[in-house]
Amino acid sequence: VNATPLYPLRFEPIYQYRLWGGRRLAHLLSAPLPADDPIGEAWVLSDRDDHASVVADGPLKGKTIAEILAQSREPLLGELAGRFKRFPLLLKFLDVRTQLSVQVHPSGEAGKTEAWIVLENGPKACILAGFKTAISAQDLRHAIANATLAEHLARFPPKIGDTVLIPAGTVHSLSDVVVFEVQQNCDVTFRLYDWDHLDPRTGRPRPLQVEQALDSIDFEQGAIGPVAPQVESLQPVRREKLIQSERFGVTRIGTDLSFLVGVAGLPRVLVCLTGNGHIEHAATRYGFGQGDVVLLPAVLGPCLCRPEGRVSVLEISMPETPSELAKPQTALN
Ligand SMILES: [Zn+2]
Repeated sequence: VNATPLYPLRFEPIYQYRLWGGRRLAHLLSAPLPADDPIGEAWVLSDRDDHASVVADGPLKGKTIAEILAQSREPLLGELAGRFKRFPLLLKFLDVRTQLSVQVHPSGEAGKTEAWIVLENGPKACILAGFKTAISAQDLRHAIANATLAEHLARFPPKIGDTVLIPAGTVHSLSDVVVFEVQQNCDVTFRLYDWDHLDPRTGRPRPLQVEQALDSIDFEQGAIGPVAPQVESLQPVRREKLIQSERFGVTRIGTDLSFLVGVAGLPRVLVCLTGNGHIEHAATRYGFGQGDVVLLPAVLGPCLCRPEGRVSVLEISMPETPSELAKPQTALN
């Protein structure tokens, strides 16, 4: 089978109505926002059956990421081809105008660790993540019943540029903030408390999943605050490692000079937070603008990224080594 050769793949965003959403994504993404409704999420790279990302241009325009994976698994995923059936990460912009429910995600390979990079904050901006002090399941159950759960959660006011890592099993919520979100490709969220909100579309509260949530919670998870970025270089290109977890890595790059993105044998994703430019591959230019997401298939190897003016971009990596247990044992003697 002669699959279409891969190239830097830019995807269309998928905007989603959310009762807690707003209109702030309109000036953060190039693609126009749908009219009127509060928009809470833009899914910018998603390999989910219900919301599949579609390539925006080039010979593969209109194809979903699942269709490309079916045709070109090895060239796209490289060393990860045997490990993941679907693309392993789900990438979104979130505009939380009011307050997200207090929630938790399950752990494991099919669970969800997530990270947020703060892009905008309003006067009531707040991130709640982890417990002030360890709590028992019974006390937590009482707190949910008495609507005092939030009092047990650690909180801080997020600043623009902050990065927050939420390991699977951490109870969390956020309000009045716009973030870019990196997460494992898992759609399971258990709601513990919804601030007595009513869904205007149904006039009723949204359902809670307290029992499943209690099975997923890490009761030992203490207060979570912003992570300290590791500056890798300041000149000529500013590079900061924001996250290096076993699920994904995030590097922030700020510059007006050309730089290399991607690596041989593994896929990478470039997310443009501000500015615009293009990526060069095989003597062709692939343009990107603010809010665009470009998947660099493993087969491409390093590509030159040329900003037009100053850009701030994220380079996102997938898990690069299997867990220690999966490594072959070295024979002794
Ligand atoms: Zn979450």
